[in-house]
Amino acid sequence: MAGAFRRIATEEAYVIPEVLNPMRDRAAAEAYDPDLLFWSRARAGSPLERRLLDLDGERLEIMDQHGVDVQVISLASTGVQMFEAGEAGDLAAKANDVLADAIVRHPTRYAGLGAFAPQDPEGAAREIERCARELKFAGMLVNSHTGGEYLDEAKFGPILAALEAEGMPLYIHPRAPAPAMAAPYRQYTLEHAIWGFQAETGLHAVRMIVGGVFDRFPNLKVILGHGGEGVPYWLTRIDAMHKAFQAEGRPTLEMAPSAYFLRNFFITTSGMNAPAAVKFGIEAVGSERMMFAIDYPFCDTAEAVADMDAMPISDEDKANIYHRTAERVFRIPAA
Ligand code: MN
Repeated sequence: MAGAFRRIATEEAYVIPEVLNPMRDRAAAEAYDPDLLFWSRARAGSPLERRLLDLDGERLEIMDQHGVDVQVISLASTGVQMFEAGEAGDLAAKANDVLADAIVRHPTRYAGLGAFAPQDPEGAAREIERCARELKFAGMLVNSHTGGEYLDEAKFGPILAALEAEGMPLYIHPRAPAPAMAAPYRQYTLEHAIWGFQAETGLHAVRMIVGGVFDRFPNLKVILGHGGEGVPYWLTRIDAMHKAFQAEGRPTLEMAPSAYFLRNFFITTSGMNAPAAVKFGIEAVGSERMMFAIDYPFCDTAEAVADMDAMPISDEDKANIYHRTAERVFRIPAA
């Protein structure tokens, strides 16, 4: 059945064997690491592994079955960020080439978010340019921290400059909390989507805002999944506390923190296709800054589509969330 709205899903994952295999080998060999534990879930022969590796068969069948018109596809977390710098850069390029080829085979069904290796900021900037100019990707994606470091740090300036210059939006996707904040999450395995992903990724966004990134790069666009990783709910308190305590080490900002969120950020509904979360998002940031996402193959396509179809919001808001915002932000031609 054709849907009433074009459906563009914006946080959909794939992987290449050259990334999956070494990560899974490390998960089997090394002491506990929450990010490696996540990779170990894609067991050899499992449906998850099969769906992550596939870019031609089951992925399109499931999309067709549930009326998903376009997937915006990115390399599964943690991408190349746990490899050594040189290898990470090579793997990012390889993964991007594989995705670009799939988009050539299925140009109306896929758009791509490129991978890059923040471990080498200059090399990452060159890969961002290649993804924009040669591969015609819709944007780039980073899996939050790299080696415990965040993109507001000065060394990553070339990455942010390239993103802004190329007009490439950056999706900040979760990974487990950085080592320096991971310990209290360990006891109940809270490092993943249950809480740690959101705490880690929300922190990354707040660091970028309060650290003055958007005064340096006013045209940089950032996308957060999972309803904005908690940040929209906190905006008024962040503003109030930012104003109340002008703490040492904080740069002076040109605007209130929330103003950057409402100017530079977009949020997606991945894993948060629940009425309370979506209605709050519309009130806090507006549907023109919201996009639909499934998180295939980690979340269920049928459920995400059914939830959004049934969402008690206006058709105008639903059209924005299902496709208009993604068409604008990711430059996806209208159907
Ligand atoms: Mn995801």
